[in-house]
Amino acid sequence: MQFIYNDISLQHKTGDHPECAERLAHFAKLTQTKLVDASEFLSLVHTEKHIAVVKNAAARSLPIDPDTLTSEKSYEAAVAGVSAAILASETNGFSLMRPPGHHSYADKASGFCLFNSIAVAAQKQANTGKKVLIFDFDGHFGDGTSDIFYESKNVLYWSIHQSPAFPYKGQTYEVGKGKGKGFNWNIPLSHSCGDDIFLDAIKSFLPLAEQFQPDIVGISAGFDGHHSDPLLEMNLSFHSFYEAGILLQKKFKNIFAVLEGGYNLEYLPRCIECFVAGMNEEEIPHDEPRTFSDLNTVTDYKETKAALRRELSPYWTV
Ligand SMILES: [Zn+2]
Repeated sequence: MQFIYNDISLQHKTGDHPECAERLAHFAKLTQTKLVDASEFLSLVHTEKHIAVVKNAAARSLPIDPDTLTSEKSYEAAVAGVSAAILASETNGFSLMRPPGHHSYADKASGFCLFNSIAVAAQKQANTGKKVLIFDFDGHFGDGTSDIFYESKNVLYWSIHQSPAFPYKGQTYEVGKGKGKGFNWNIPLSHSCGDDIFLDAIKSFLPLAEQFQPDIVGISAGFDGHHSDPLLEMNLSFHSFYEAGILLQKKFKNIFAVLEGGYNLEYLPRCIECFVAGMNEEEIPHDEPRTFSDLNTVTDYKETKAALRRELSPYWTV
């Protein structure tokens, strides 16, 4: 898995906002990837009205909501993020771009996200007849992605996230609608959950994900579950991200990843490098102690796991 990076991402300027250009500073020396204009693909998941809202807000450097800012080049940066996600889906790459995308809905920007890059890439793949699994391990629920594919059986959305936390959705009973029933899986975790729970959550539901038999797997790779993150209270170490990479690459052939959150400027690059090392079956490049959950958190998690199994049992062999 190779990085796809272009410094147009740095032109989305947000001042002292946690989702800032400095998040990618560590990677500034990477070889730039030439990206083609992907604006024609935005409408695969986004409404024309939403595309115009982002373009017009950026032209005047206006915030779209109090969390979601723009600057003069934000439209170009966000479209480049979509282009990089599409390229990642075609080359098994890791799109290392910003702003993130998984809170962006078909018709609305939200939670720092302008366009939903992984959703556009997934829909483009789905349009060729492929079944797409989106696995979202960002510490926040990817409400935009979930909503976009809520009635789809060709794109299965699976999220592990802290709850309660923004966007205050993503419960086990939200399993999809219509033809998409059974194709939306949420594992909400209590704050302070450690590597033990996070990795068990992946291992427990990977066999179900295999039943879906995806042709391609897109990872919404967010690292704000790390214990150092200023926006969330999860307690993951590097081991969670490294072993997530190991587990996923063992099960699936065709995988790509798109950067979502992760706001500790010092730790984010190391979290990313640990995940990619796992994906590439290399040694873990950074070390720190593994983390474990307390008894109450484990009890909550066991109930959540049982609840999701019950919810999914009509659709999958659990
Ligand atoms: Zn996040």
